[in-house]
Amino acid sequence: MALPVPLRQHFDYLIATEPQPQVGCRVLVPFGSRKLVGVIWQVAPDDQFDSSKLKTVLKLLDSTPVLPPLLCQLLSFAAEYYHHPLGEVLISALPALLREGRELTDYQPKAYRLTDAGRQLEAKTLKRSAKQQALWQTLQAHQLTESVLLQQHSRATLKQLLDKQLAEEIIVPPTPYAAPTKTAEGLKLTQAQALAVTAVDQACGRFERLLLEGVTGSGKTEVYLQSIAKLLQTQQQVLLIVPEIGLTPQTLERFQTRFDVPVLCWHSALSDSERLHCWLQAGTGAAAIIIGTRSALFLPFWRLGLIIIDEEHDQSLKQQDGFRYHARDLAIKRAALQHCPILLGSATPSLESLHNALNRRFIHLPLPDRAAGQALPKFELVDLKQQVLQFGLASQTLAKIKQQLALGLQVMLFLNRRGFAPALSCQECGWLTECHRCSAFTTYHKQSRQLVCHHCGASKAVPRQCGGCGSTQLKPLGQGTEQLEENLQQLFPDIAITRLDRDSTRRKGALHQALDDIHQHGARLIVGTQMLAKGHHFPNVSLVVIVDVDGALYSSDFRAPEQLAQLLTQVAGRAGRGSSGGTVLLQTHYPEHALLQDIIQNGYASFARSALQEREQTRLPPFQHLALFSVEAHQSELCHQWLQQLADSVRQFAAIQLLGPIPAPLERRAGKYRWQLQLYSPARPALHQALDKVLHLITQWPLSRKVKWQLDVDPTDL
Ligand code: ADP
Ligand code: ZN
Ligand code: ZN
Repeated sequence: MALPVPLRQHFDYLIATEPQPQVGCRVLVPFGSRKLVGVIWQVAPDDQFDSSKLKTVLKLLDSTPVLPPLLCQLLSFAAEYYHHPLGEVLISALPALLREGRELTDYQPKAYRLTDAGRQLEAKTLKRSAKQQALWQTLQAHQLTESVLLQQHSRATLKQLLDKQLAEEIIVPPTPYAAPTKTAEGLKLTQAQALAVTAVDQACGRFERLLLEGVTGSGKTEVYLQSIAKLLQTQQQVLLIVPEIGLTPQTLERFQTRFDVPVLCWHSALSDSERLHCWLQAGTGAAAIIIGTRSALFLPFWRLGLIIIDEEHDQSLKQQDGFRYHARDLAIKRAALQHCPILLGSATPSLESLHNALNRRFIHLPLPDRAAGQALPKFELVDLKQQVLQFGLASQTLAKIKQQLALGLQVMLFLNRRGFAPALSCQECGWLTECHRCSAFTTYHKQSRQLVCHHCGASKAVPRQCGGCGSTQLKPLGQGTEQLEENLQQLFPDIAITRLDRDSTRRKGALHQALDDIHQHGARLIVGTQMLAKGHHFPNVSLVVIVDVDGALYSSDFRAPEQLAQLLTQVAGRAGRGSSGGTVLLQTHYPEHALLQDIIQNGYASFARSALQEREQTRLPPFQHLALFSVEAHQSELCHQWLQQLADSVRQFAAIQLLGPIPAPLERRAGKYRWQLQLYSPARPALHQALDKVLHLITQWPLSRKVKWQLDVDPTDL
């Protein structure tokens, strides 16, 4: 039995042989003083056990597995690969209602028909109840699904017939979706798009990995749409994984208007019952296309024919806590198990995928030009040195904004810092508002009048006085999106402004409202964080201003340049998608910085290829494999000791190189100190072997009980 507990072991229970228990079915079991929902992982005859020592399963919850064999295989691979307890992995793949032990039959579509007694009933028997009589008569003709029945009859009437055993409930056998009868005409493909669609067509029916490296606006979505068309004719299903924010009504609409088949979405804003509905529709084949965020990868599919990952470089594909998996990598594994192709798309592919494409493990499908022939946006550097700035904007930036607005076009301003200001500072003594629990400043949010720590989430009211000298002269230091919006409104009182960041879109429906506002055209300023970078197609944006990325130019994480190059290219790629051409103004104090120069002069494709060479020379992923142990505790010393002990154990393995123990980039979070140890190895099997061994040791150390530790295989964030 696999149980959702953080223990790396299985548990044995006794279970009745009737009804037949199957691997992948859920059970309710006693565990200590609690009851847990677990998943049957192995069934063995009881003479293998001392049955007097075993507890008995309280209830078998499923008659058919909620985790079919292929998913069990995928999840068991994932648990091994990420070295995460199997029970937690299995349970995390189920919708919440199933995790809680709800019975599936409660959610499956039902129908009602007459029983033998009902059929033989004489018509006059029910004549005193007109309602029952009416329902009985309808059921004489044919059975009714619940939803149709309830359109004309009440639940109470139905219950009366059921209670009298004149009618009975049956589960409607699921039916897969019908192949589309009409498919809206697609666009006439460019030559590069046509080649890509042909390559996907040819890969169908077997496992193949394809990388669609298409510049921003090259029409990747059209490639997805036309690749899907043929699969739908043979009633195969398609899974499209997108970043959370990419799941806009616009995306959904493009798929829904193209094909008359059920298209469902899967994301965190769905209610528990909506999620279960989607899960069921995937499993029965009633859904043809599912567009979802990373965890859609664990949906059961009746007949999956193609997986597409849009924005495959996106960091949201990596789960950053608990079961830390990478959705792209697990989706590739899933495609292998399903014998279906997987198409990865991006304007800025991850160096991992690019590496695989360049050494021909993946089929490489480049789309080097924009689809409708528009030029890629032109970058201009704005040197901020020795300039007088107004609200963080240089005079030439402001002039250009005015000019574009006067032409009736839209301008987008990118600033990757939400809130009003990164800190409040005392004018008298220089004191800054800091989080008590983290080594970080607290962000000033003016609208909600709060200081919020963006690391631990702690918030408190804005203080009246300086915590150092008691002065009341506290002023915002630096600029966040909230302030930029306010300042821009002063400068351009007649122009509507839309802000897109985590604060402005928190309210349900707010994001969709904001996107609608932008799509309504008209002169408008758009201010936002990296939310702006994700795949949006706003044809009226002619100018993108990158207000400040200087802080990101110097970072200790070896992935930082890659991530910054992706961000800059993606944000820039929002410009000039319509007919009016596009410009990107990049404001910086470091115009000579090599990364900026490379991106501006040569573009991402060239940057990425030289970055890969650099990774090869410095023996960094993907040329070595990396695992990261992080540990936190109230005393820094404990973290260090624990990692030192770990480092000593790892040193027995010749194939592993160590970096650390070193303090984490954010040394303290939520009151705890944080340290890390990085393990590098040229060979994956050697790394995994070492991890298996040390994980076994770790559980035996008394010190392990005093710290909180975590393992991240292929970490994306150091
Ligand atoms: P990407 O996802 O690659 O950034 P999109 O799929 O959003 O690009 O396409 C950008 C724009 O180009 C869309 O308006 C789309 O309708 C248009 N487009 C795509 N393919 C073609 C084509 N073959 N001919 C003309 N326009 C196209
Ligand atoms: Zn904090
Ligand atoms: Zn002060």
